[in-house]
Amino acid sequence: MQMIGEFRNPELVKNLCRSISRVTTQKWKIMEICGGQTHSILHYGLDQLLPPEIELLHGPGCPVCVTPSQILELAFKIALQKDVIFCTFADMIRVPGEYRGSQTLDFYKVRAMGGDVRMVQSPLEAVNIAKNNPEKEVVFFAVGFETTTPVNALAVNEAEKLGLSNMFFLVSQVLVPPALEALLGSPDNQIQGVLAAGHVCSIMGTKPYVDLAEKYQVPCVITGFEPTDLLQGIYLCIKQMEDGRSEMENQYSRVVKSDGNFKAQELMQKYFQVKEQGWRGLGRIADSGYGFRNEYAHFDAEVKYQKLYESETRTPSCEFVCRSGEVLVGRLKPTDCEHFGKICNPSSPLGPTMVSTEGACAAYFKYRNQGRGINEA
Ligand code: SF4
Repeated sequence: MQMIGEFRNPELVKNLCRSISRVTTQKWKIMEICGGQTHSILHYGLDQLLPPEIELLHGPGCPVCVTPSQILELAFKIALQKDVIFCTFADMIRVPGEYRGSQTLDFYKVRAMGGDVRMVQSPLEAVNIAKNNPEKEVVFFAVGFETTTPVNALAVNEAEKLGLSNMFFLVSQVLVPPALEALLGSPDNQIQGVLAAGHVCSIMGTKPYVDLAEKYQVPCVITGFEPTDLLQGIYLCIKQMEDGRSEMENQYSRVVKSDGNFKAQELMQKYFQVKEQGWRGLGRIADSGYGFRNEYAHFDAEVKYQKLYESETRTPSCEFVCRSGEVLVGRLKPTDCEHFGKICNPSSPLGPTMVSTEGACAAYFKYRNQGRGINEA
């Protein structure tokens, strides 16, 4: 295993940039799907090292950001129930959302209103809380992509083994390929090349991207997260576009195998099944989420707290102010949002993309004005 420094080596970075410049003859738009990739690009200023013909569009790969407002509102309502302990990852705590059509809340405010909200590092921690508090109902906010879903499944497995009847999961688990398909198939699609997220493919394998590349005639390069990974992914993508090819290529072969992680897939499929899912910025997409199988519905917080759920189609008023939805589909650069760095900043975020550690607005705020580049890595 190479040392991490090799993947951030300034000389290798410069060589890759030179190779990219040599093969680029025209304008190209490439979308990096994952918010982790966006942060790495901004952190190391990689977008500024590329030839001006190449534009990077930031994609919807931030699980906190794409969680729809309606699920967030349900989460607030559940967390405010008497005798409920609501567990969530820290990233979700400050995401603002609407409550009962008017008030804007986040989980800190829910706490101030008396809700027992706890930050956890893993869903297994929530299961442990349920085990130690049998008189309480414990709910874990299971938000995530294909990378997180196996860990959620592991927690359901543990709750099942322990025979817990007080443990529930509020599930908002999403799948990347159907969302990418919605973007590539939209009439105003601008994406000419895709950098697919290596960690997602390490679970699910490479096949979905073989199909997408063929169906939409767009190169899909599975890419890692370090500077040299990303630049090599961009190089492979540009080379394909310049050659008139559209194939799946695996830049991250040191981690991603063609079949993915069979054990993780098996565990997910035991408890969850593919279903229609709502996405912030993309709306409802068929087969783009993982919900509980019927036989495990007793763990499903949406079923348990059904009376609190309002499946409304209205757009919450906070979304009219925040333009996260446009940022998430690559139509708006964070710095082009009129609120960026003014009324919206990490201390006072208006939307999830400014809160999450994988959000594009947070990445621009953190790195763009600091001028930090690869030489300071
Ligand atoms: S800068 Fe703030 S208001 Fe604008 S899109 Fe980003 S999170 Fe929303």
